[in-house]
Amino acid sequence: MSGLKLEVVSLFPEMVEQVGRYGMPRIALERGAMSLSARNPRDYADNRYRSVDDRSYGGGPGMVMQAEPMAACIEAAREAVAPAKVLYMSPQGIPLTQALAGQLANEAGLVLVCGRYEGLDERVLASHVDLEVSLGDFVLSGGELAAMVLIDAVARLLPGVLGAQASAQNDSFSQGLLDHPHYSRPLDWRGQSVPEVLMSGDHTRIARWRLKQALGQTWLKRPDLLETLELGSEHKALLQEFISEQHTEG
Ligand code: SAH
Repeated sequence: MSGLKLEVVSLFPEMVEQVGRYGMPRIALERGAMSLSARNPRDYADNRYRSVDDRSYGGGPGMVMQAEPMAACIEAAREAVAPAKVLYMSPQGIPLTQALAGQLANEAGLVLVCGRYEGLDERVLASHVDLEVSLGDFVLSGGELAAMVLIDAVARLLPGVLGAQASAQNDSFSQGLLDHPHYSRPLDWRGQSVPEVLMSGDHTRIARWRLKQALGQTWLKRPDLLETLELGSEHKALLQEFISEQHTEG
C-alpha cells in the first residue's frame, strides 16, 4: 500500500485505535489511504509484572517510562512502517498546526510515541525521537489524545479522503485565514435569513463574498494571523470593505 503507515506506541492501544472508528480516519483506513496499529511497550518489558515505569533519579513524585522497553517498542514500530519518522507527543514539542499536519500527510510512515506519568527517560528521547509535537501549552495525563488529534488532522488531508478535495483548501488556516461562514437549509430560520449573495448563483460574486468573509472573520477573531500575512491589494480592499460594513451594521 502506498498510503501513510501509522504505528502508535502506547500503554493504552485500545484507546488510540478508537480514532480509526469514526469520521475521516475511518474513511482513510477503509480506502487504504492510511494504516493504523498500536503496540504496547508492556509487551517489550522483560520483567514478570510487565512494568515499564520506575522512580525518577534525584527523587520527587512521579514515575518515568523506562528507556529499554520504550526503545524496544519504538524500534519494532519503526521497523513495521519503515521508512518512518518518530514523533513524541509532548508539551515541550513544536505546536501542531495545519501546516505541520500537511507536511506529516506527505510522510511514508510515522511512529507516534505516547508518554504517561512524567514522560520518557531523556536518553530515549535523545536516541529514538526525531521530533516532539505538542497540542498546546497545557499538560495532558498522556500522549494518546494528542496522537489521536494528530491522526485525525492528518487523515483528512490524505489524497482521496475528503469527498470534495477542494474543501480542505478552504478550511481555516490552509490559506493562513479562517474559513468563511456556512449556511444550509432552511432559508429562514427563526427570523434569520441567509446572505442574499449565496442564492445569486453568481459564482464569482460568491467567491468574492467568501474571501471577504474569510478575511473579516480572521480580522475579528484572530488578528494575530493577519499580522503574519502579506495581503495583496485585492485582499486589502476586501478587508476594508468588510470593516466598513461592520461599522454601518453595528
Ligand atoms: N512532565 C512532563 C509532562 C508529562 S505528561 C512535562 O512537564 O513536560 C504525560 C504525557 O502526556 C507526556 O509524556 C506526553 O506524551 C503527553 N502530553 C502531555 N501534554 C501534552 C501536550 N500538550 N501535547 C502533547 N502531548 C502531551
